[in-house]
Amino acid sequence: MKVKNLDNIKENELNGNSHESHEELGESHLATAKGTPLRADAFDLSNDEKMTIIEGHFSKIMETMGLDLTDDSLSGTPYRVAKMFVREIFSGLDPANKPVVKTFNNQFEYGQMLIEKDISVFSTCEHHFLPIVGKAHVAYIPSGKVVGLSKLNRIVDYYARRPQVQERLTMQIANELQESLDTEDVAVVIEAKHFCVISRGIEDTSSTTLTTEYRGQFKQEAIRKEFQEYLNMKIEI
Ligand SMILES: [Zn+2]
Repeated sequence: MKVKNLDNIKENELNGNSHESHEELGESHLATAKGTPLRADAFDLSNDEKMTIIEGHFSKIMETMGLDLTDDSLSGTPYRVAKMFVREIFSGLDPANKPVVKTFNNQFEYGQMLIEKDISVFSTCEHHFLPIVGKAHVAYIPSGKVVGLSKLNRIVDYYARRPQVQERLTMQIANELQESLDTEDVAVVIEAKHFCVISRGIEDTSSTTLTTEYRGQFKQEAIRKEFQEYLNMKIEI
């Protein structure tokens, strides 16, 4: 068994997959895939089956760390973590949870940009499984279709509830907006704090990460500036 493990380590190193290169990739928060890297068999198991397996594995993690799982306070933790992973913080992996975005004909012929500001973002860094918390601002210029405002929040939330990197989250939201609103003209800005930067590694509590994705007319400087001015506008409501 030991020999086999050593062989695996050697093989991984030859393939550039050493722990060191894993750490480097994680610290740089580089994504290797455009879409969320899911296996073809990702949904062969039911949610309940996944929860049972995760519960077992998480018990092992806690036991390995020397925790006493017979303690009343800890005994339910593996189940709670499994339920939280499958039904809450990673529920956006499951296409069954994708929000149904109903569009309406743009009867008012509103042709200006529509902005939804300060949408709460709760996501999880896929390199460290620690929270990413922030705000998203999304905008679009309607073509023939408009959408119920809460759907914009739901789109952000769906893609946030996955193991993520912020860049991919930003682009997935932009892709979805373009597709469901049938317009090229979308903008997504996300500003977030990464707990893997706050609570470990560099331990910086003040820095935030800003990502932007401008498509269609939002690539034009004047339109982009207009959007950015609205973002800076503070209106007391
Ligand atoms: Zn991280």
